[in-house]
Amino acid sequence: MTDLSQPVTDAEAHAAGGGVAPPLWLLAELTYRCPLHCAFCYNPVDYTDHSRELSTEQWIGVLREARALGAAQLGFSGGEPLMRDDLEVLVEEARKLGFYTNLITSGIGLTDKRLGDLKAAGLDHIQLSFQDSTQELNDFLSSTRTFDLKQRVATSIKRHGFPMVLNCVLHRYNLPHVDKIIDMALAMGAEYLELANTQYYGWAHTNQAQLMPTREQLEEAEAVVERYRRTHGERCKIFFVVPDYFERRPKRCMNGWGAVFLGVAPDGAALPCHAARGLPGLVLPNVKDTPLREIWYESDAFTRFRGLDWMKEPCRSCDEKEHDLGGCRCQAYLLTGDAANADPVCDKSPFHEAVVKVVRRAAAPAAHEAPEPREQPILFRNDANSRKLAAAAFVAPDEQGGPGGRA
Ligand code: SF4
Ligand code: SF4
Repeated sequence: MTDLSQPVTDAEAHAAGGGVAPPLWLLAELTYRCPLHCAFCYNPVDYTDHSRELSTEQWIGVLREARALGAAQLGFSGGEPLMRDDLEVLVEEARKLGFYTNLITSGIGLTDKRLGDLKAAGLDHIQLSFQDSTQELNDFLSSTRTFDLKQRVATSIKRHGFPMVLNCVLHRYNLPHVDKIIDMALAMGAEYLELANTQYYGWAHTNQAQLMPTREQLEEAEAVVERYRRTHGERCKIFFVVPDYFERRPKRCMNGWGAVFLGVAPDGAALPCHAARGLPGLVLPNVKDTPLREIWYESDAFTRFRGLDWMKEPCRSCDEKEHDLGGCRCQAYLLTGDAANADPVCDKSPFHEAVVKVVRRAAAPAAHEAPEPREQPILFRNDANSRKLAAAAFVAPDEQGGPGGRA
C-alpha cells in the first residue's frame, strides 16, 4: 500500500506517467462562498450551480493524493477560503505532508485569532487582495465596504510575521492609480506586489466592455512600474502581468495544459485551468469518484490539450508552437467557438480580428476617459446574478463577432 505521507520522487512519478511530469501546483478552491462581489471575479458565472462543497475528510484525501502524486505547492483559494472553518485543519495536514502553503484571501474574516491559529498550523505565506488604493474604488469594485478592514488585516498579517503578497487586479478604472497602489504596498511592508491585468474569463468576461483599458493606460502604468522597480525594487518585488489582448502572440497558458497545474473546485471537480469549467464538451472528472493519479494521467479533461498533438492549423505547422503551445484554450473557445483553435490573440489566427475589435472599442473616444463607476452597468458577482446567468444557459454572444459562451 502506498505510504501517502511520503511523496514519490519526481522521477518515479514521471516514469509512472509514461513521460508526463507530475503536477507541481495544487490549487484547492475550498468554497465559492465569498463576502465580496468583485466585478472581475474569476469564479464561474454559474457558480451557484456548483455550490456543494467537499467535506473536511474529502479535502484531506485530496491533499494526500496530490502530495503522493508529486505536487509541492499548495494554494488555498475560493471564493474566500476563510469561509471554511476547517481551514486551519487543512493547513495543518498540508504542513505535515510537506506542502509549501499559500492562503489566497480577500482578508475578510482574517482575525488576529485566525492568524495566530494559521501560524501555529504551519501556514507559510499569505496573498491579500485589494481592488484599489482608494476606499471609493476598492469598495465600489467589490460592492462592499471593506477597504479599512483590509488595511487593518494587512497590518496584522505583518505583525504575525507572514511573508505577504499584495495582489491587485488592474483594469481601466484603477490603472491610473498604479503609483498609489505601489505606494500602498510599500507602506504595508509587502514583500511582493502582483499587479495582474484582468484576464477576461468568468465575471471579467461578462464585464469586459467596462473593464478593458486603453493601450495608453497600459503603457503609462508599465512605465510607472519600471520607475518604481528601479527605485524600490529591493524593498518590494513588483510583478506586472500584461494583458494579452494587447499582444500579437498569446501567453503560454498555465505553462501548458495538464503540465504543472491541478485545480480542484469546491464540489470536487478537477480543473486543468481555472476557467476550464466553461468549456462545453469537456467532462471534468471529480475527486469524489476518481483517484487523482488517474485524473492527472488518464482523464480526457487533462489529456485533451496536453502537448502538441491536438493542434489544428495554423498552430500545427507553426514554428513557434513549442514556445506558446497555441495559447489559452478558454480564450480560444470564448472568442472563436472552438477550444482547439489557435488563441485569437495570435495575429496568425483567422479570428484575430475579434481581439483587435475589443481593443479598438476600448480606445473609442466615448470610452477614452475612465468611466464614472456608478454610472456603469457592471454585473457584480453575487448569487442572484449567478442564478440569472446560469438560467440563461449561455452568456449573450460577443459583440466582437465571436460566438461567446459560458465563462
Ligand atoms: S475575486 Fe472577489 S468575489 Fe471573487 S473570490 Fe476573489 S474576493 Fe471573492
Ligand atoms: S499560430 Fe499557434 S503556435 Fe503559432 S504563434 Fe500563433 S498561437 Fe502560437
